Amino acid sequence: MTRMRKKEIERRLSETVEGRVAADEPISRHTTLGVGGPADIMVFPRSEAELRGVLRLVAENTVPLLALGGGSDLIVRDGGFRGVVLALARNLSGSKIVGDRTIEAMAGETFASLLRLSREASLAGLEFLVTIPGTVGGGVVTNVGAFGGSFAETLESIHLIDGRGRETAIEKRDLRASYRKIEIPAGAVVSRARFALEPAARSEVEEKVARFREHRLRTQPLTEASAGCIFKNPSPWEYAGRLIDQAGLKGLSIGGASVSSVHANYFVNDGKATAADVLALIDEVQRRVEESSGIRLEPEVRIVGDA
Ligand SMILES: Cc1cc2nc3c(=O)[nH]c(=O)nc-3n(C[C@H](O)[C@H](O)[C@H](O)COP(=O)(O)OP(=O)(O)OC[C@H]3O[C@@H](n4cnc5c(N)ncnc54)[C@H](O)[C@@H]3O)c2cc1C
Repeated sequence: MTRMRKKEIERRLSETVEGRVAADEPISRHTTLGVGGPADIMVFPRSEAELRGVLRLVAENTVPLLALGGGSDLIVRDGGFRGVVLALARNLSGSKIVGDRTIEAMAGETFASLLRLSREASLAGLEFLVTIPGTVGGGVVTNVGAFGGSFAETLESIHLIDGRGRETAIEKRDLRASYRKIEIPAGAVVSRARFALEPAARSEVEEKVARFREHRLRTQPLTEASAGCIFKNPSPWEYAGRLIDQAGLKGLSIGGASVSSVHANYFVNDGKATAADVLALIDEVQRRVEESSGIRLEPEVRIVGDA
C-alpha cells in the first residue's frame, strides 16, 4: 500500500469502528510464538456491525485481509502483512447459553472463557480445550482438537460475514470438516458459532478438565512461547514429535528458536527469535527427519506474510 492509500484506508476504518485502528502494528505482539513483522493496518472491531463495515471497506478497496484470532497457529514472516489485519481476540468476544444445552460464542471469545462458561453450566464436550490458547473463529477454521475431540463434533452451526456484508449460517450437517480444517468460503470471516453440548454432572466435567490439564502440563512446554505443534502427524500412527525426537533434534536451535526439549513437535522462542529463525529451523528439521526416516514432515502451522 502506498503511504497515501494507507492513510486513507486508516482514516475510513477509524470512521467505521469505535475500537482501535493502528498503523504499522507489530504482529509479534499478537501471536503466541511472538514473531511477525508489522501489519500495514490493524483494526480491532467490537461488534458484528463493525466487522461488517470493515469487511465491506476492505473488499471495495481490494485490500488484502488477514483474520487474526489468538495468533496461536500462525507464523507471520518478519516483513509483516501488506494489508489489513483484523484483530478479533477479546474484541469481538462474549458467549452465552441459548436453550438448554447450546452455547453461542463470538469469534474473538477465547477458549478459556468458552470453557469456563461450559463448566459453570455443567455442559460437556469442550473439555479438550483446556490450556489451548486460541479463539472461537480460529478454532473453527483449524478444527481445533485434542484427546479425540474437536470442534467439528461439538459445533451446531457457524455464522459468517463476507466482503459484501452478507451474513450466512452453515449448519453442522453442511460443514466440510477434516483433520485440523473446516472449510469456509473465500473472503468470509467467522463472526460467531454455536456449540451443541451434553448436560453432565459438574464433577464429571471438572474431572476431565483436570485430567487433560495435568497431561498437557506434563507433556507440553506450556510456559514457553510457541505455536503449538509445528508439523502435522504423517499418519494416525506416526507422530511428528517422535520422528523429530528419534532424529536426535530435541534442543536444536537456530537464532532464538529451538526445538523444545519437552515436546519435539513444539518450537519455542527464547524471546529473541525472528520468524526467519523459526522458518530456518522448520527447514532444517524437515531435512534431517527426511534424511533419518525417509518421511517429509509438512507444517501444521499456517505461514503468512512478507519475507
Ligand atoms: C501451547 C499451544 C497448544 C496448542 N494445542 C493445540 C491442540 O491441542 N490442538 C489443536 O488443534 N491446536 C492446538 N494449538 C494450535 C492453536 O491453538 C489452534 O489451532 C487454535 O484453534 C488457533 O486459534 P487462534 O484463534 O489462535 O487462530 P489464529 O492462529 O489467530 O488463526 C488461525 C487461522 O484461522 C484464521 N482465522 C482466525 N480467526 C478467524 C475468523 N474469525 N474467521 C476466519 N478465519 C479466521 C486465521 O486467518 C488463520 O488462518 C496449540 C497452540 C499452542 C500455542
